[in-house]
Formats: sequence, structure tokens, C-alpha cells
Amino acid sequence: MPEFQRCSYDVLVIGAGGAGLRAAIEAGAAGAKVGVVCKSLLGKAHTVMAEGGIAAALANVDDRDNWRVHFADTMRGGQYLNNWRMAELHAKEAPECVRELEAWGALFDRTTDGKILQRNFGGHRYPRLAHVGDRTGLEMIRTLQDHGIHAGMEVHMECTVLSLLLDGNRIAGACGYDRERGRFQLWEAKAVVLATGGIGRAFKVTSNSWEYTGDGLALAYRAGAELQDMEFVQFHPTGMVWPISVSGILVTEGVRGEGGILRNSEGRRFMFDDIPDLYKEQTAHSEEEGWRYTQGDKNARRPPELLTRDHVARCINREVKAGRGSPHGGVFLDISWIKERMPKSEEHIKRKLPSMYHQFKQLADLDITKEPMEVGPTTHYMMGGIRVDGDSQMSNVPGLFAAGEAAAGLHGANRLGGNSLSDLVVFGRRAGRFAAEFANANGPVTIDEEEIQTTATAALAPFDRGPAGENPYQIQYDLQETMQDLVGIVRVENEMQQALDAIGQLRARAERTGIAGNREYNNGWHTAIDIGNMMIVSEAITRAALLRKESRGAQFREDFPNKDSEWGKYNIVISRSADGEMQVEKRVLTPIPNELKKVIEEMK
Ligand code: FAD
Repeated sequence: MPEFQRCSYDVLVIGAGGAGLRAAIEAGAAGAKVGVVCKSLLGKAHTVMAEGGIAAALANVDDRDNWRVHFADTMRGGQYLNNWRMAELHAKEAPECVRELEAWGALFDRTTDGKILQRNFGGHRYPRLAHVGDRTGLEMIRTLQDHGIHAGMEVHMECTVLSLLLDGNRIAGACGYDRERGRFQLWEAKAVVLATGGIGRAFKVTSNSWEYTGDGLALAYRAGAELQDMEFVQFHPTGMVWPISVSGILVTEGVRGEGGILRNSEGRRFMFDDIPDLYKEQTAHSEEEGWRYTQGDKNARRPPELLTRDHVARCINREVKAGRGSPHGGVFLDISWIKERMPKSEEHIKRKLPSMYHQFKQLADLDITKEPMEVGPTTHYMMGGIRVDGDSQMSNVPGLFAAGEAAAGLHGANRLGGNSLSDLVVFGRRAGRFAAEFANANGPVTIDEEEIQTTATAALAPFDRGPAGENPYQIQYDLQETMQDLVGIVRVENEMQQALDAIGQLRARAERTGIAGNREYNNGWHTAIDIGNMMIVSEAITRAALLRKESRGAQFREDFPNKDSEWGKYNIVISRSADGEMQVEKRVLTPIPNELKKVIEEMK
């Protein structure tokens, strides 16, 4: 029987990105004994890759900004499918959470009078993103890590959680293995916070790193939690398309925020050709006006390059499909043109976008201060995730909380850039606080020894089948191709049905994976485990996308190209039936209170 190394906590946090670390700090501050588990090294979470900034209505650059505008922008961006309570709390609490980061040592860029500087981003009415050049996530994770370590949390690095444990219907902890030696681990806990980030690796072209295989969503689903809004996968409009080895790597929206423009192969600035009605009044009517906006003119409206991500991604897709793309299948993003307007533009670009400058110089041998970049859509962010209570972040499984990208609700059908980093700190803090309260109010848990042995036996099965079994890498590749080709930016019923059939066949193959070697740093083994989670997530995305017969936010159905007000009344919720089948249902949105309705109306 496999051995387990055991630890016991009040609160176990799974994931050490911004959401996990913020939750751990808060739970610790509330007196809970806290353990943090992460799949890679501490400091390597996705959060560290965040570039453009963190959204908060600090009103440092434009004093017209306040929580009401931020709330209305977030709801409009999410096409009103957002959990309104989360959008309200987020808009109200984000400024305080940013100031808290500053108090803990984060060094944001400054205005000339010494306040935290804020930049423009798509869908935000005013300059709202506090930032550190284009390395905001790095500064955020450094700050949270320094603060968290000094607050005394215990960290289990390079450990992958395999399953959540239940005591009756209540959470009891988690079990997993360490990548270094392949030893099994058991973390007993009265409350668990899932902060495992996104699902990008379910698709072929993605800005996400190897860790983002949707583990948290699959773990929660198997433990009985509901998932929500799974059809809404954000395809960021600007990823690198060349060289092929780096395709998908993100090109921050900050480039467009600083004045970068999109052109097709004919040199046309095509974003002016298609401005959605919802945004007509807020969008510049001329290139001149758009430029003035990026330079801080309060009377100008934002350029169409700063429309929401779903829309910009579809416009790029349209140009490429119409044969007006760049040589490697994208379009041109040009920041170098600002030399026509600005003295010393090269220094300005290098100062405002240092990572982008180095990224293109080193990976594509291209100087962005002199030449346009080639960019195209890349799978970036999951709006859907674990369905949680807006205030406490608890799921429908008692004691199981979720925060950050793994949780659903705040962003509705489409996330605005910068609203993820603020989501992490606002709801990480809440999840940590309420998890500690739950742990305090509930007695010890009992671990089902049989359950953990079953998990370990299943995890080791690919070794028993050996190299003659199915190749896990090939299955992962086939799944990514399926999702990219059949459930991507433009969706249609018959292709999604094909995807479901393909996922069924891939799942059967995944049950026969075989691997060679031993348990120490065995990537084949890790992939064999990851693909089980990717199957659940992919099936959930496809089933939800099939059920929603309309186009809204990040979901574009070629067979239902319009928004349907009837569908605007529902979220799609996914759960596991008693016989293990995936159930998909429409769930009526909680009615929005009148005072918040009024805020939305006022801001239109
Ligand atoms: P993550 O930071 O993704 O951390 C997840 C953690 O979970 C990791 O520690 C991982 O090891 C762990 N984990 C996962 N599975 C397991 C498992 N099975 N067992 C144990 N641990 C596990 N958003 C913005 O608001 N502004 C930006 O400027 C911005 N720029 C971005 C740039 C890039 C290139 C990318 C990829 C994203 C960007 N985003 C941005 C989005 C934002 O960075 C992410 O949504 C956010 O960081 C997610 O944070 P998180 O705490 O939820 O999860």
C-alpha cells in the first residue's frame, strides 16, 4: 500500500498565485494554521506573468473615476451575466487592496505628484490600471510572498493535488504527490481554498504555462461542487504568432493602452470599421481623438483598439480569414508609429513596455520601437469556474472555497483586462477570511483511508501499464487540437458535437495511458494525470457552449450570431450526477437590486 506523508491544517490553500497567497495571508491573520500547496516553485504562478496592471478606481489620474464607474464597466464588459454582488464588492474593495499592497512594499509607477500611476485598458472608462511598467504581476507576487512568508504560512512546493477529500459532505483536505520524488502526501484540513488558476492548456494556442490544466475546476467538480459560465473562455486578441515556437505568448494590452494600433496587410486600421452599439458613444470617432485619449486628454474617447477583448479578437480573426492578415497568420500591432507624434518615442516605449521590448527582441529579433509586431488571438483566461457565494467565496460543498481565476462570477461573459489581479486580492482576502471562520466554527475532520488509497492506486496505474499503453503526450496534443479547431473563437453546433465525440474517445484512451521510468520528476506521469482534468474541463466548456444558443461576450456562435435577451437571464451551471455523468442546466440569475441597476443606467 502506498505510504502518505501527513500534515494537518485549519485552512489548506491550493495554489500560490495572487489569490492563494492573499487567502493564506488573511487566514493566517485570523489565527488559522495555514498550509499552501503549489504545483511548481513558489513564485512561478501565473500571477507573476501579469503585465499590464491591476484595476482599481483610485482616481489618481482621472478624478471622475469611482467604484460606481468601475462596477458599471465590469458589468457591461461581462454583458450583465456577472454575479452582481461580486462586481460590487470588487469595485468597492479593489482600491483598498491596492493600497494594502503598497503598504506591504509594492513599488508602483508614480504620477508626477507622487501618487500611484494608472493606465488605460480595454473596456475601462478612465485610466484605472495601477502598474509597474509591464511587470505588475512580478511585483505583486514578490510583495505577497514576502508578506506571507513573514506571516508564517507553511508552503509545499512542487506538489500536485490529485483529489479533494470529504468527510460526509464536508471538505476534509486533499491528497497529492510531490514531483521531486513522487511520494504521496496527505493534507488534512477543516477548510480548503482552491486558487489553482486557469485552463489555457486545454487549447493549442495559449498564453498560459504548463500548469494550467484546469486542475482546481476538475477537483471541485469531482468533489460535488458546481461549475458555472464554462462557455466563456477568453481569447486575448494579441498573442505572438511568430516564430512558431513562441506562438501564443502574450502581447500585453498595455501596448494598445500606450497608443499601439492594429492594421491589416493593406495598412488599414480596421478596428474603426466595426464598433458595437453598446460602445459607440464611448469610442473615438477619429484616429486623432483616439491618440489624444491615450495621451491623457480627458475630453477624448478611447480608440477602438481598446474595445473589449472578445470583440477585438473576433475582428482580428475576421481580417485573417478574409485574407488580409500578416505573413504568419496574424495582423500588425504597431507602437513604433508614435514616433510621428512624440519626440524620444524609442525611450518612451522602452520605459513603458520593457518586457515587450525584450520579448520581441529576444524571441523574434524584432525591435518594437522601429517595426510593427505580428499578433493574433491566444487562449488566455477562463471567466467560468467554480460557482461560489459572492460574499464568502464558499462553493456548494461546505468548507470548500475558491478564489481568483478558478472561481466564476465576477467577470460574466467577458473579463476586462486588469480585473483579474484585482479579483485575486479582493476575493483571495475574502476566501481566506471566511475559510478561517469556517475552520474555527467547525470541529476536526475524519479522513477516509480507503479513499486515499484508491486515489494513489489510480495515480500509479500508468506505471502498471508501462510504455505499451497510450502515450499521454499524444492524447494531450489531440485534445488541444480538438478544442482549438472545434470549440475555439468561432463556434458552431455540428463542430461542437464532433468535439464531444472526440473527447469521449480521448477519455477512453486516457484511461489506458502507460508510462516508463520511475516516479522522480516524471513528466510523462504528470501529463497522464493532468489530462484527466483537461478532459473534464474540455467537456464542460463544450457542453455549456452547445447549450447557450446565442453569441455573447467571449462566446461567438456562427449559427446564432446575435445576442438573445432571453439567454441574458441565465448562467449555465454544470455538476456531476450521482451516476458520474456531466449535467448541464440553465440557472436564473439572481435579480440585481434597484440601486445597482440605477448605477448601470447612469453610466450608460
Ligand atoms: P495563478 O497565479 O495561475 O496560480 C495558480 C496556482 O495554482 C499556482 O501556484 C499553481 O502551481 C497552483 N496549482 C494549479 N494546479 C494545482 C494542483 N493540481 N495542485 C497544486 N497546485 C496547483 N490579469 C490582470 O488583471 N492584469 C494583467 O496585466 C494580466 N496580464 C497577464 C499576462 C499573462 C501573460 C497571463 C498569462 C495572464 C495575465 N493576466 C492579467 C491574468 C492573471 O495573471 C491571472 O488570471 C491570475 O494571475 C491568476 O491568478 P490565480 O491566483 O488565480 O492563479
